[in-house]
Amino acid sequence: MAERKTQYCFIRDPEFAWLPAIKEGNNNTHAQVKVPQYKDEQSIVCDGGKTAKGWEEDEVPLSDYNKGVLPMQNVNASGDLKSFPDMVNLPFLHEAGILYNLKDRHGNGKPYTRTGDIIIAVNPFQWFKEIYTEKVRSRYARILVWENTEGDPRSQMEPHVYETSALSYKGLAFDGGDQSILVSGESGAGKTETVKICMNHIASCQQGPRSSSSEMSPVVQRVLESNPLLEAFGNAKTVRNDNSSRFGKYIQLQFDKGDKGQQEFRSREKATCVLAGSKCEAYLLEKNRVVSHEAAERTFHIFYQIVAAKDKSKYWNKLAGTTNESFRFVGKTDTDTIEGMKDADHFANTVRVLEEIGVSGDRLMTLMQAIIIVMQLGNITFVPDSKDDDHSVIASQREFSDLCELMCVPEASMEVALTERTMKTRNETYKVPLNPAKALEATESFAKEIYGRAFLWLVRCINDATAAEINYKSGTMSDFGIIGLLDIFGFESFVRNRFEQLCINYCNEKLQQKFTEDIFRSVQEEYEREGIPLDEIKYDDNTDVLDLIEGKTGLLAMLNEECVRPKGADMAFVQKAIAANKKSPCLFENKINRMGFGIHHYAGKVMYDAEGFVDSNQDTLPTDLADAALLSSNEILAKHMNNDSCMNFTGKAPSDEDKKGAPKRAKSNIVAPTVWTKYKGQLMSLMTMLKKTNSRYIRCIKPNKLKKPVIMEHMSAIEQLRCAGVVAAVTLSRSAFPNRLENSVVRFKFWQLWDPDRFPSKATSSMQPAEKARCDCEAILTCALKPLEEINPKTGKPYTIFVVGKTRSYFKMGALEFLESHRSAGL
Ligand code: ADP
Ligand code: MG
Repeated sequence: MAERKTQYCFIRDPEFAWLPAIKEGNNNTHAQVKVPQYKDEQSIVCDGGKTAKGWEEDEVPLSDYNKGVLPMQNVNASGDLKSFPDMVNLPFLHEAGILYNLKDRHGNGKPYTRTGDIIIAVNPFQWFKEIYTEKVRSRYARILVWENTEGDPRSQMEPHVYETSALSYKGLAFDGGDQSILVSGESGAGKTETVKICMNHIASCQQGPRSSSSEMSPVVQRVLESNPLLEAFGNAKTVRNDNSSRFGKYIQLQFDKGDKGQQEFRSREKATCVLAGSKCEAYLLEKNRVVSHEAAERTFHIFYQIVAAKDKSKYWNKLAGTTNESFRFVGKTDTDTIEGMKDADHFANTVRVLEEIGVSGDRLMTLMQAIIIVMQLGNITFVPDSKDDDHSVIASQREFSDLCELMCVPEASMEVALTERTMKTRNETYKVPLNPAKALEATESFAKEIYGRAFLWLVRCINDATAAEINYKSGTMSDFGIIGLLDIFGFESFVRNRFEQLCINYCNEKLQQKFTEDIFRSVQEEYEREGIPLDEIKYDDNTDVLDLIEGKTGLLAMLNEECVRPKGADMAFVQKAIAANKKSPCLFENKINRMGFGIHHYAGKVMYDAEGFVDSNQDTLPTDLADAALLSSNEILAKHMNNDSCMNFTGKAPSDEDKKGAPKRAKSNIVAPTVWTKYKGQLMSLMTMLKKTNSRYIRCIKPNKLKKPVIMEHMSAIEQLRCAGVVAAVTLSRSAFPNRLENSVVRFKFWQLWDPDRFPSKATSSMQPAEKARCDCEAILTCALKPLEEINPKTGKPYTIFVVGKTRSYFKMGALEFLESHRSAGL
């Protein structure tokens, strides 16, 4: 018997998730191990026997050890760590292995790692200029798009998001089908930057195999420049990210595929598949931020930009001399610089790009004034009427007059709209007064609504300026090929989770479902390629949770039902939802808080607090304010917009009727679609669009909360990998055969365990090397794994322990560990 090798492993640790360890032996109750003498996460590195801070002896109860140990995959015989650019090649692919592999690469300036077709991007929080140069960009494009290489050229290249963008472009140009890149991760993980990096790369791929010029067509330029514009109005500084997108977006890059002669296309110098335009859809703008934000955060950038603007009085003369503190909604901020640029300079840039996309002159004025109206609304205050506490009067008269002047709405109409509410019953309509608190609430919802409209108006303007339909008047949508890029909020679980979190997590469940289906398909394809039987794959899907949320008696249906009842209440919603979903394994009651309920999401359990659900779901503006807005001369306020989608952009200028602000909408009780109904519709159409594409995934990981380079916090990284479905993907792809090795490696490592006389190889001299390796592995493994063989009593045949595929060998649980531990020392 060969001498036993040192057993490297990972053991579970409450603080650091997993610690690398060396097992030294065991007695009846305890395993003797050596663990790193750590001080912090940084000093714990998985480098076999050479941990930076040395090792210390420890003992782990055997039961714990057996439960909490994972084999360490990437240590060679002399104790050196080997990290893998493509984690598919990790012989043991589990949570701890993934964590330490990513950590090692992250610490060595390699932000990108591959797991099959998925790119995992760990935010470096420092710009590695050398991996984004023109040379690198064109290399990925040349090799992945233009060269006709045998096999997978990626195996020779460092993983990079450029491979995702290049392969998407290639997929569209050569295979013809629409493509998508789905980017996910928590706030600050790097989604938006990643999308920008990919967009830029895709735009440059089309320049062809030789071109290195960075000259951009006006279309490309416009498409790329729409990004900072969306950021000015949709991003804000938060504690987690100085430039955090407060909305989700799906950008569709539209390509003119030219003539369809794709064979001919390959030999061309320049692509005929060229960027013709783009369209963007926005999801769930965080409108609440307009009226309040944490002290350490900011509201949307545009507010600070406009206050800092040198020529601000051009937009409203009363802005002269104002500061951030002049406006309650804006307020004090401890920074006036975002991404290295001052707010004032950002403003100049915002205006320049706006003008470029045609928002200039009157239209620019309209947009800026809508923003100023929002700011001014924050300065309106109310006090109780001296005669009656239930009535309120406007306390800030001067601010109010300024506001009305700005809106071009008569003061009398505006005052009534802010301080009274029209109530309707079947037979009569009457007005009730609002007390100061209620009046303030109405004012704030008005401000939010206007900002939301301004944002959608802007998205529409961008679409009008960039959509291919505009640039190619004769064409119709179906003529274009699409590469879609999704930059959307990741799974969220806070101490207190509200309606917004439910919406966000619902979206993540939908995307997870697609992700799982895609991974499953790719595993199937791999097994087919390797010539391995398929019947062994099982996986958990999340239809249970989706049913609970969007099913017939699901949460969505129950909440909507509650919202149409005259006195719908949060508590009633919770009770009905629980009663209607008693059978669901994913819903549970909160025994302490009756307003609370919990959902078992794919990424973990989340407790929601239903307080405010009914209101949040309705989010309708009191009709009085909606009607007052119709009187305004500002198009954004007056044009009655159907907020449900920004996809249906028409690009139509407002008609004269619109401009007059004639209230065309009947003042009746139309039941407005709820926030959730609209959102669900948006998601459904997103999913339908995505289904028609070939999707690729980029999972962004935020390595630490400090936003600092190099540091990697274990617990949070593992949590994110789990939420991003990376662990699930791995589990799925490894469910049948958890471990794998390339056949050539199997032969190299384990030939000493082979007795060729008893188990001869079927390899012959006329075979190709790969075929030979396959035959040899078959013989080596049959021999070496004989001791593990067990007979299945049902079939009378041995259970499968391993399968040798065309290029890789696949192992059942325990088999590879067995081989590793029986390898002779010194190999
Ligand atoms: P998200 O959209 O996920 O909230 P962002 O894309 O805005 O996150 O990234 C947050 C910050 O992280 C950026 O402002 C930048 O400082 C940093 N960052 C993101 N991606 C990279 C990268 N590839 N290289 C260097 N820094 C990055
Ligand atoms: Mg973002």
